[in-house]
Amino acid sequence: MNIENCRVCSSTHLEDCIDLGQQPWCNDFVLEDQVGKESRYPLMCTFCHDCSTLQVKYTVPKEIMYADHTYLSGSTKTMVRHFQTVSDFVCEELVDGKGLVVDIGSNDGTLLSTYQNNGMDVYGVEACAKTAAIANENGIKTAVNYFDYDCADRIAQSKGKAKVISAANVFYHVEELHSIVRGITHLLDDDGVFVVQASYLPNLLKSKAFDIMYHEHLLYYRLENLNHLLSLHGLEVFDVSEAEVHGGSIVVYAGHQGVRPVSDKVTEMIAVERAEGYHEIGVYKKFNENIQNLRANLQDLLKKVKSEGKTIYAYGAPAKGTVMLNYCGLDSETIDYAVEVNSLKFNHYIPCTGIKILDEKTVEEPDYYLLLSWNFVDEFCRSEAFQSGKRKFIIPLPEPKVISA
Ligand SMILES: [Zn+2]
Repeated sequence: MNIENCRVCSSTHLEDCIDLGQQPWCNDFVLEDQVGKESRYPLMCTFCHDCSTLQVKYTVPKEIMYADHTYLSGSTKTMVRHFQTVSDFVCEELVDGKGLVVDIGSNDGTLLSTYQNNGMDVYGVEACAKTAAIANENGIKTAVNYFDYDCADRIAQSKGKAKVISAANVFYHVEELHSIVRGITHLLDDDGVFVVQASYLPNLLKSKAFDIMYHEHLLYYRLENLNHLLSLHGLEVFDVSEAEVHGGSIVVYAGHQGVRPVSDKVTEMIAVERAEGYHEIGVYKKFNENIQNLRANLQDLLKKVKSEGKTIYAYGAPAKGTVMLNYCGLDSETIDYAVEVNSLKFNHYIPCTGIKILDEKTVEEPDYYLLLSWNFVDEFCRSEAFQSGKRKFIIPLPEPKVISA
């Protein structure tokens, strides 16, 4: 259903600004008998004129969204390296390498394993039972649950307070936002650190990465918005860094208010956000126009390639690929197949496209791959197939183009 009130400040002063049309739930990868029967929901972003948080207007029930997701964070080397870098920094600079780390939305335990490498005790909270089972098999103790205040309280009772609480790319998924932040404040030790990793809204807009906007991502943060939300529950951001993952993310470090000195980086980043106008609706309306143009350009490029009798497959079938294809009206008429390395997706179909997902290893090279996992372009361009000139990518963002060795 559509929200009437801002998820952060409860204001009713909301205005629609970015329209991605009717979209399936992006992770609803279906088997053949369900093709064409997927549900669609409006995907509209709305802007709060009071606290300036950009958010998705329509909430898909969380039981539909998280019960059976197939994204495994362990599946790319780039993410593992990134998580280890953050964990090393936290363990060496912010806590003394001892105590409990709790990860919210801990997935297959990849992030927690980097803290385990540093000698910390780890505990994951993951809503998807299948994914949690993989983590437990790998020796990362994981509970199947949604993190909220009650869950935080149970952990505090049974395991004590946490030195580190982490939320990587989940902190914008959450429906019960205030219960979660209250839970974090309650569970976090007096000198503990809350580490949030999220897509950074200004980077998302600059790279035109509209496909990161989907029903699961209810909120889109810049630093000022995030700090405001945390401050409502007694926390404050004291440091921030940028990371080249998921199209340009930020890693935000927060603690209880007044405990740690606030870095100049925090005040400077917020000042830049204001100078660039992200606290007003204009930039978001402009973005909506930009992506309409991008869509037209991508459609033209693909039409031209198809008219030359070439084959186009999708490279990767990430959640954002679902958004890209559906926004641009692309289906199995243009894209014959998609290839993946994640075996959980093999023989499933990208929602509302009829495009079947195959094992990359078993597929003959098509003339072009449309790169849906564009955030890993550097990693994919190091492959032998690309370096030898055999593989050509069509990159959708920030401007559609063909790249080859
Ligand atoms: Zn608001």
